[in-house]
Amino acid sequence: MPEDDLPDYRTDRSGWVPGGAPLRVVRARTVDDVRNTLAAAHRDGTPVVTRGAGTGLAGAASAGSGTIVLDVSGLDRILHLDPVDAIARVEPGVITADLDRAAAAHGLFFAPDPGSVAICTVGGNIATNAGGLRATRYGVTRDSVLALDVVLADGRLIRVGRQTVKGVAGLDLTALIVGSEGTLGVVVGATLRLLPRPRQVATAAAYFATVADAAKASIALAAGGLRPSVVELVDGRTLAAIDALRGTAHAGTGDAFLLVQADGFGAAEEIDAVAGVLGRTATSVRTTLDPDTAAALAAARRDALPAIEAKGPVLIEDIAVPRSRLGEAFDEVHRIAAETGTDIHVFAHAADGNLHPIIRTGDDPAAAHRAADRIFALALDLGGTVAAEHGVGALKRSWMERELGPDVLALQRRIKEIFDPTGILNPGKAL
Ligand SMILES: Cc1cc2nc3c(=O)[nH]c(=O)nc-3n(C[C@H](O)[C@H](O)[C@H](O)COP(=O)(O)OP(=O)(O)OC[C@H]3O[C@@H](n4cnc5c(N)ncnc54)[C@H](O)[C@@H]3O)c2cc1C
Repeated sequence: MPEDDLPDYRTDRSGWVPGGAPLRVVRARTVDDVRNTLAAAHRDGTPVVTRGAGTGLAGAASAGSGTIVLDVSGLDRILHLDPVDAIARVEPGVITADLDRAAAAHGLFFAPDPGSVAICTVGGNIATNAGGLRATRYGVTRDSVLALDVVLADGRLIRVGRQTVKGVAGLDLTALIVGSEGTLGVVVGATLRLLPRPRQVATAAAYFATVADAAKASIALAAGGLRPSVVELVDGRTLAAIDALRGTAHAGTGDAFLLVQADGFGAAEEIDAVAGVLGRTATSVRTTLDPDTAAALAAARRDALPAIEAKGPVLIEDIAVPRSRLGEAFDEVHRIAAETGTDIHVFAHAADGNLHPIIRTGDDPAAAHRAADRIFALALDLGGTVAAEHGVGALKRSWMERELGPDVLALQRRIKEIFDPTGILNPGKAL
C-alpha cells in the first residue's frame, strides 16, 4: 500500500489521539506474523494495539507513543464456507459486508450488520461485540460466533469454542473474548454462524407528532407479540439535518420517524400487523414490499449520521436503557441539550433501547463532554449501560467502575492478568 494510503494509526474514527507516535507498525499477513510480534513484545514488555479497519468509535484502536500497532486487516481470507453446516471460517480482516456477500451466494447471511458493515472487519466486530440494525431479532456479534483462534500475549495460539451449534464443554472462553477490545488476545481466525437469507423483507415507515409517541409505538410492537428485525427511531432535529443535506421534507411531516422491517416467511403479514399498531398514534404510515421503495423510505434513517456530521464535528455516543424507558431517555437527552447549550441529535435502535445521542462539539468541546457525562449518568440512572455496542475503549473507561462496581471491575482486571500477565495488550483501554 502506498505510504499516503496508510491509515493514521494514532487514532480511530472517534478522532481520539492518546499522544505521540507509535514505535512501529506491523502489518500482519500470516498467523505467524502475529505470534512472532506478540512473543517479542511480551519479552520486551512493549504495549501492542491490535487494529482492524480503525472504524471504532471509542478510541480502542488509537495508538500512542511507545506502542506497536498490530494491523491485522491484511489477514483477510474467507477460508471456508459450508452451506450444510451453515458456518464460515474466516480470518479477522475480512470486511463484514464481503462475508455477507459470500454467504448470499449460498442463500445464507451473516446477521451482524453494523452501520459500518462496508468498511469494518469481522475481527473488529468480534473484539467490540458489535451490534447493528437487525440486532433486535438476530442478536449481536457474540450470537454469531462459534469458535475463535486466538494468539495469547506470549505468542501461544489457542482455539476456543466449537464447530457445532451445541456444545457445553468447559467455561465459555469464546464469549469472554468477544467484546474484549484487544485486551485478552488477538483473534486470528473465527468460525461464524450463518443463517438462511430472508426471502422477503417488508418495510413500514411512520411519522409521529412527538418522539414520545414514536417511542411508545415502538414498545407497543413488542407488547403486541411482534418481532420485527429492524425498529429504528429518528428524532426531529435529525430529520431537520437530513432535510438540510438532502432537500427533503421529513421534518414537516412529523417530529419523529420510525422505520420498521420484518423479514422471512410471513414478513408481509407481520408488517400489516406492525402498520396496525403504529397507525393508532402515527400521523402517517406507509408499507411496502418493493426493495427500491423500501430503500427510499429507509433514507430517513440511513442519512441520519452523514447529515449530522455534515454540520460539523461530533461526539458519537452510545447508551442503552431498558426499552420501557426509551421515551424518558429521549426526553432527558433533549433536556440535557437545552441545559448545557449543546446541539444534540438522537437516533436509536429502538427495540433494543439503544440510543445514539450525537453531540456537536462546535465552538465549545468542553460543553459537549459535560453533556456526554450527563448522558452516561442518565443511562445508569435509568437502569441501562454507558456502552451499548461501540465498546468502552479509552473514552468510557472512567465510567467502568461506576457501571460495574469495584468488585466486578477488580475481578475482570484479574482475568485480564491471567491472559496477559505483563499487561501488553491494549493497556489503558476497556477495563
Ligand atoms: C459510520 C459508522 C457506523 C457505525 N455503526 C455501528 C453500528 O451500527 N454498530 C456497532 O456496533 N458499531 C458501529 N460502528 C463502530 C465500528 O464500526 C465497530 O465498532 C466495528 O466493530 C469496529 O471494527 P474495526 O475493524 O474498524 O475495528 P477497530 O476500530 O480497528 O478496532 C476496534 C477494537 O477491536 C480491537 N481489534 C480489532 N481487530 C482485532 C482482532 N483481530 N483481535 C483482537 N482485537 C481486535 C482493537 O484493538 C480495538 O480495541 C460504526 C462506525 C462508523 C464509522
